[in-house]
Amino acid sequence: MTWSILFILGSLLTDSALGWTYHYSNNTMNWTQARQYCTTYYTDLVVIQNQRENDYLVSTLPEKNKSPYYWIGITKKTRTETWTWVGNNSTWIGNQSWAENEPNNNHSTEFCVEIYVNKGRNRGKWNDEKCSFSKHPACYKAQCNETSCVRGKCQETIENTTCLCDPGSTGDRCETGFLLIGSSALTCAATGDWSGPRPTCTSYKQALMALAGCGAFSTLCCICLCWAKHRKRNKLAQVRQSEEAITPPSEVQG
Ligand code: CA
Repeated sequence: MTWSILFILGSLLTDSALGWTYHYSNNTMNWTQARQYCTTYYTDLVVIQNQRENDYLVSTLPEKNKSPYYWIGITKKTRTETWTWVGNNSTWIGNQSWAENEPNNNHSTEFCVEIYVNKGRNRGKWNDEKCSFSKHPACYKAQCNETSCVRGKCQETIENTTCLCDPGSTGDRCETGFLLIGSSALTCAATGDWSGPRPTCTSYKQALMALAGCGAFSTLCCICLCWAKHRKRNKLAQVRQSEEAITPPSEVQG
């Protein structure tokens, strides 16, 4: 029992460290509703960037014997417009993506795309369809977030996420980098001196440590100051008590 729980927990943790995950619904809906479903519960309708991703998606979705199949996140608004993926606005279409005789734009109203997930020769191929038809949404959930990469852009690939670091930064999460302390441009003044102090180049780690050091020093100063004030206040109270003890009480005359 314990081992089962550990195994399940392990699987969940492993999944969370990988790239995006695919999801679907057993309910059918039109393309707009499908997108709404995906953005509500996951990230968006699936975006496919190459044939490998297309194949991987098909391998993860349950097979269907017949229509309805799955909506994917590529669409266009008019007959002449370019097919565009939601989310990243990519216009990628592989050489073998469309099923035979597709996209046929039947009745000139087929501006959305379904993917066949069946056993037939069209498995994994696309078909342009009328957006108002009901199909299963195929969604993806991104793993990259704002904190994935410290100084860089997070890129998701199948079963992996990669940080594309900004210039000057390195590390799995682009956590190692350097920081300019001072002015990035100095001018030579008429006096023959530079317009400011010479800048230095320091690592983020050193800058953070220096900052933490300043914080610790400030805290120490604050404690000392408070202690000194407290001590002064106590002394004053003692002096006042001594004075009161020496002074005789004033007599009340009737
Ligand atoms: Ca079609």
